Amino acid sequence: MSKALLPPTAKGRKYEQEARKIRSFAGLKREDDPLDPFALAPYAGLLVVDFNQIEGLSEQARAHLLGDGAKDWSGGTFTRPLPNGRQLVILNPKHGHQRHHATLMEEVCHVFLGHKANKLEITKTNDQGKIVARDYDDSDEEEAYAVGAAALVPYAALHRFIAIGKTTFQIAQHFGVSRQLVIFRMQISMLWPEYKKRHPVEVEQYNLAKSREAARSFEKLNDSADDVGKATKA
Ligand SMILES: [Zn+2]
Repeated sequence: MSKALLPPTAKGRKYEQEARKIRSFAGLKREDDPLDPFALAPYAGLLVVDFNQIEGLSEQARAHLLGDGAKDWSGGTFTRPLPNGRQLVILNPKHGHQRHHATLMEEVCHVFLGHKANKLEITKTNDQGKIVARDYDDSDEEEAYAVGAAALVPYAALHRFIAIGKTTFQIAQHFGVSRQLVIFRMQISMLWPEYKKRHPVEVEQYNLAKSREAARSFEKLNDSADDVGKATKA
């Protein structure tokens, strides 16, 4: 993968180069080889533990993290190392394997890119795949997520898959990631218009669903503003 195609933007090219280093470290030869972050995690000194193995959480905390609060976190890393030097990573068991891949890959990238953090990092991804996070600065967050996403879904492979007519569903399945992540990669690397030309109906449906979602959350926002209004009047 020495002369592979690179994204059009300078930032995209920089992230892609970092991602390619990680892919070659992982021993991947082809640009479309799927990357397994779980195989990479030990090399980054990360120890992934099952949420259910955590002791000392109150029933209330557990119920919240898996219930109402489940949508607010995707993974956490205890950046203070364990006595054996490893860092503990916990993934949200309510999320599927595909989202775990993106979350864990971001944590792996923080380590490989030499980012510094002191406390527990809580990351939250929204529907666009963007991260709301603490304890790393914003540019480190952006870099870790973008490089991780590029390592999971390389530009050259994405470009080729679009050219041969594969859908976002097929590409997501191939790389073991969510469809959202594939769309994020297409949008950020300017391949979305090309994809849209080939799959106009799918993109139209996607946009419609997005605007419905936006309208719904806008309504919710208004509803809660009404509640606040009523409360202050009472
Ligand atoms: Zn992060």
